[in-house]
Amino acid sequence: MHTTRDTLRQAFDALLQPERFKDYSPNGLQVEGKSRIERLVSGVTASQALIDAAIAERADAIFVHHGLFWRGQNGCVTGWMKQRLQRLLVHDINLFAYHLPLDAHPQWGNNAQLGQRLGWVADAHFGEQDLGCIASAPYDSAQAVAQQLEQVLGRPTTLVQPPHAQERPVRRVAWCTGGAQSYFEAAIAAGAEVFVTGEISEPQAHLAREMGVAFIAAGHHATERYGSPAVAAHVAQAHGFSHVFIDIDNPA
Ligand SMILES: [Zn+2]
Repeated sequence: MHTTRDTLRQAFDALLQPERFKDYSPNGLQVEGKSRIERLVSGVTASQALIDAAIAERADAIFVHHGLFWRGQNGCVTGWMKQRLQRLLVHDINLFAYHLPLDAHPQWGNNAQLGQRLGWVADAHFGEQDLGCIASAPYDSAQAVAQQLEQVLGRPTTLVQPPHAQERPVRRVAWCTGGAQSYFEAAIAAGAEVFVTGEISEPQAHLAREMGVAFIAAGHHATERYGSPAVAAHVAQAHGFSHVFIDIDNPA
């Protein structure tokens, strides 16, 4: 079975509705390749390693969360950008990338898929463009949340606890995958007792201690590796062509 580039683009757009978001990267078809699509590869980031693995899989299209083009780039096709683009163009492979729309999708998105693995179902949203999720989830302590994350994600986390947090049970957990450390204050305002995201920056450690809310950094890549395969598998199944997820490990 096969489909076409345009059908695939329409399917991704219909599902993820990029027009609803203000983003800092173009969402949709970032690099145009062949029209006939039989094999789709999904991944987190359009790195050279992922593109090479997709070529080895004889992919006709790649679907990622982090594409090639971001606001603030100088636009020159040199160095790593040339290397990645050249591989895609020489092999006539389509690159589809969806950033915030992929974080946000209520069923297949990064936030929903991470929540599903932890038993968290968002009952409210917060932060820029309402991307943050918050749920009722009882834990004995923030430490217990971190332990569950380490088990599910298979990697260590960074936990910053406020004083005396060890004795404090947790009822409300907030999360936003990837680099959402700037959502911390909005999470606190929304009633979070623990906030989980991929990365921590220096200011959040102080805020955690001063505001009495624990902060857990569980990995940018680790928290964002569930949305891409979920969307790609869903669309591939609906259109009857094959899909494979390739996880290129990233310690960040
Ligand atoms: Zn990200």
